[in-house]
Amino acid sequence: MNTQYMADMHNYGTLLALLDRYQYFALSTHINPDGDAIGSELSLYLFLTDLGKSVRIFNTDAVPVNYRFLPSWNNIEDVHSVGTYRPEVMIVLDASTLERIGKTLSKILLPVHTLVNIDHHATAEAFGDINLINPSASSTSEIVYTLIKHHQTPISKACAICLYTGLMFDTGCFRYSNATAETHRIAAELIEVGEFAPDEVYRYVYEHIPVSKIRLLSEILRTLQVTDNGKIASVYATQTMFGKTGTTPEAVEGVVNQIQAIAGVEVALCVCELPDGSTKVSLRSQGQVDVSELASEFEGGGHSRAAGCRIVMPYLSAITALTHCAQQYIDQTPRDVVIR
Ligand code: 5GP
Ligand code: MN
Repeated sequence: MNTQYMADMHNYGTLLALLDRYQYFALSTHINPDGDAIGSELSLYLFLTDLGKSVRIFNTDAVPVNYRFLPSWNNIEDVHSVGTYRPEVMIVLDASTLERIGKTLSKILLPVHTLVNIDHHATAEAFGDINLINPSASSTSEIVYTLIKHHQTPISKACAICLYTGLMFDTGCFRYSNATAETHRIAAELIEVGEFAPDEVYRYVYEHIPVSKIRLLSEILRTLQVTDNGKIASVYATQTMFGKTGTTPEAVEGVVNQIQAIAGVEVALCVCELPDGSTKVSLRSQGQVDVSELASEFEGGGHSRAAGCRIVMPYLSAITALTHCAQQYIDQTPRDVVIR
């Protein structure tokens, strides 16, 4: 962690003073938003709205169907709704880099009086005027939770379920190494305060899979390749597969986690052919290799055990390049090193 991040971790007071001072806010998150992206922005939206602020959320991509049970999800607007709205403060959540909110959106909304960046990615850029970056937090939602705690306002029921969803998603349902004792304590508090059934939240998020996605999954799994030493596994999804199954690249979300679960695999790759011929990459590590560093070599980023990038290269060439690079990382890292 560099000194910039250390300083940023103490920015809660500064940010709360800013929230007090201004009235008009806009929130946004990264393209292809996931549970933490949606959970963190909705919880912050609800918190600020309860404080009497004027808040609007603008996202480049639509809310995935499996998050459409969260309070206020349908208040999330798209790029075309910005119109003449001029926020004083823009808060970007869980994005890693400003570019990841989408080019059009940043062009329409920026510059603003103050830009705030709330994130937990190891590779997060400090692009805000105020940066609340904590790579030790399980999720951006956990940082929003801490922010609300610093304000000493009770967490509302609606806010609690959004925060819990973010925590649950980014810890892989509390299975990954980022799920600390503190994360579990926060989750327990949110369940009590929110008075929701955690099993129902799980079912909404993970058990609303369209049959088309399962058909796509069967196509993707057929492409599985494992290196001779058994340490690197890869799969790919193509535009032809999306056409055949009636799906889009969003349906690939989560597949890489299944590849990572293969016994003996250290690095898992899932690559996806995008309509423009470039390739979206998801990387997972079992702990020996820091995949955020690997992704950085291809202008991406993320966390030590879950990272990604976009490569301007056909998908098969991307697999070759990434597999080669991953093998170098494995060769360079002592086997008993386990990164967290
Ligand atoms: P996923 O593989 O689930 O799409 O992403 C895993 C992690 O890597 C997420 O935390 C995500 O923010 C990060 N990530 C994925 N794609 C990119 C990318 O193109 N650029 C950066 N900087 N991070 C990415
Ligand atoms: Mn996150």
